Amino acid sequence: MEELYSQIDRIRGEGYQHIRCQLGFYGGIPDSLKTPDQPMAGTYFDQDDYMRNTVLMFQKLREKYGFAFHILHDVHERLYPNQAIQFARDLEAYKPYFIEDLLPPDQNEWLAQLRSQCAVPIATGELFSNPMEWKELIVNWRIDFLRCHVSQLGGITPALKLAAFCEPFGIRIAWHTPSDITPIGVAVNTHLNIHLHNAAIQENIELRDKIKAVFPGYNEARNGYFYPLEAPGIGVDIDEEEIKKYPVIYRPHEWTQSRIPDGTIVTP
Ligand code: MG
Repeated sequence: MEELYSQIDRIRGEGYQHIRCQLGFYGGIPDSLKTPDQPMAGTYFDQDDYMRNTVLMFQKLREKYGFAFHILHDVHERLYPNQAIQFARDLEAYKPYFIEDLLPPDQNEWLAQLRSQCAVPIATGELFSNPMEWKELIVNWRIDFLRCHVSQLGGITPALKLAAFCEPFGIRIAWHTPSDITPIGVAVNTHLNIHLHNAAIQENIELRDKIKAVFPGYNEARNGYFYPLEAPGIGVDIDEEEIKKYPVIYRPHEWTQSRIPDGTIVTP
């Protein structure tokens, strides 16, 4: 918690009003782990530990900061459906801004039960790629925020259609903007947000210097807000000489080998 407090204080000092708070990695870092002998390699987490620690995290954050900023949290589909419902109910009292990906896309039918039992704001969508995946969730008011990834939808035009579809259902947009998106993607999202009346918040992850060198014209948030670039088009360029320094390297990503204590691999 001490590490989390110091990061929150720094981020609030930069003007942010919405902060996603996690303890350790997705699913948390277990206090102790009881695996079988010779466990398979991977990133282990314990769902019960994770739920208990995260509810405690919310409690401590509200005790320390009150409602000075909005708290977000990403479950990253680390729970089974009934656990997800219990977890959402436990968090409701702490009034999160939204809880993200409580369920994997193939379990989204459970959202009907979840909605009938608590009013925690639900965000999802970063894994969606076609309208069949979001259509039912929108027309049945199963979610509050869509977190789709613009390039995965097919680009700017499908993103505009999706956002316009959400608006009369009261569903808002928070485009997925993880650390592996480029500044071009961030600029596209910002332009869309300026245009859309149902844009809610824009995710931001600090740019490393290497990235800034490759993408001249990148935009950075000022005092918690992004502003649209005024250069023509999307507004960000690519330095084709600079980018040659960083050829694509394929390597295994251990974090995607997510395992529960008995070694079973689960969605990352
Ligand atoms: Mg996410």
